Amino acid sequence: MKRYSIFSLAAGALTRHRRWEPAWRTAQPRKAYDIVIVGAGGQGLATAYYLAKKHGVRNVAVLEKGYLGSGNTGRNTQVTRSNYYWPESAAFFDLSLKLWEGLSTELNFNIQLSQRGILTLAHSHHELDALQRWANAIQVNEVDSLVLSPEDIKRRVPLLRLDGRYPVHGGFIQPRGGTSRHDAVAWGYARGASALGVDIIQQCEVTGLAMQGDRVTGVETSRGPIGAGKVMLAVAGHTSVLAAMAGLRLPVVSMTLQAYVSEPIKPCLDTILLSPVVHMYLSQSDRGEIVFGGGADAYPSYSQRGGVPVLQDTIAAMIELFPAFSRLRLMRQWGGIVDITPDTTPLMGPTSVENLYISGGWGTGGYKAIPAGGDTMAYTLVHGAPHPLIKAFGLDRFARGALIDEGAASGVAH
Ligand SMILES: Cc1cc2nc3c(=O)[nH]c(=O)nc-3n(C[C@H](O)[C@H](O)[C@H](O)COP(=O)(O)OP(=O)(O)OC[C@H]3O[C@@H](n4cnc5c(N)ncnc54)[C@H](O)[C@@H]3O)c2cc1C
Repeated sequence: MKRYSIFSLAAGALTRHRRWEPAWRTAQPRKAYDIVIVGAGGQGLATAYYLAKKHGVRNVAVLEKGYLGSGNTGRNTQVTRSNYYWPESAAFFDLSLKLWEGLSTELNFNIQLSQRGILTLAHSHHELDALQRWANAIQVNEVDSLVLSPEDIKRRVPLLRLDGRYPVHGGFIQPRGGTSRHDAVAWGYARGASALGVDIIQQCEVTGLAMQGDRVTGVETSRGPIGAGKVMLAVAGHTSVLAAMAGLRLPVVSMTLQAYVSEPIKPCLDTILLSPVVHMYLSQSDRGEIVFGGGADAYPSYSQRGGVPVLQDTIAAMIELFPAFSRLRLMRQWGGIVDITPDTTPLMGPTSVENLYISGGWGTGGYKAIPAGGDTMAYTLVHGAPHPLIKAFGLDRFARGALIDEGAASGVAH
């Protein structure tokens, strides 16, 4: 793999950018692989990368029905944070944040991590009490969090209206939270995995799972059958469809989640702001656009609160908090399908079907989990047993009643 550096950039410029190599190989499907990963989003690509890098397992294919990063990974709102309530979630998501912090160096690809802090607002005394409890739990989990007064918040976010229909009583910030460039994350992992020998096969849809009794032995694809020692599903909002091919029913509800992007404006917001009650969050991208989102759609395009279109509901909430943004023009919007579990905690690990593994149930928060998801699923595939950090995220938790309710920390997933 050609290393990127200031010198390679200069050499590229001097040769009029004609000599750049493709970042990853165009692979053709082979007859069989030790491990087949379905879905070339961040989770699938990161798992392939860590399988090759940390465990030396290189006979791996990542199959993608479209082009890599064309699912939720390449279009989400890019928020990374680890301010979760329960210790199991905090340990997993904070490992992820630590991996994010070194990822540009690890992948030799600038993922543009910007740790500008994520600020969660409270709009009543009761909410502030709950947020303080949440912030304390985060600190007990050894994750950074800081409770802020309305004055502190105004200093950080001067455009925010504190005394409107949703008065701001305070909030808390996770200073290490931030954003990164989502395409770069998919491309960086793809480049790293491909260089280590992983075959990334695009335009290859998995249409069925080959089974011998209760055991998965491969996949049927739009480009023919491919044998596999193990198969991992990393297909975000399509997990229940693929799992059903092996007769597995999953406790997930698939919903649409939308993101909106405004025209670019001058820098005016240098933190990510989230209001769980108003159901809206926003940040400003490095290009100046205001990137915002709200709750998942209970029915296509209708909000769960007032029965009005989600777009209208989310924009009304944003304008209430940021009156100056009423003049913004919306540039684009997009909706992806997300799989939401009853406790909004992911579904990870082996399944009751032999050789079938799942990295799913990510709901509205699987982007931030890409490095840790890849790392722990690679370990799980190699050992045939869950990595200690994701043991609690297995499907069996529903049978045992051991749910990890992250409804509040998931922010907008319900
Ligand atoms: C609007 C929106 C905003 C979001 N914002 C955030 C955020 O700010 N922070 C955060 O942490 N998370 C966020 N998320 C969630 C996050 O994007 C996802 O949880 C994460 O990207 C999941 O990664 P993945 O690799 O599992 O899925 P994906 O990136 O969706 O990749 C799955 C891939 O599988 C492919 N596929 C599906 N079926 C098949 C098949 N049969 N055969 C072959 N390939 C197949 C798809 O084409 C796709 O490329 C958001 C999601 C949405 C929709």
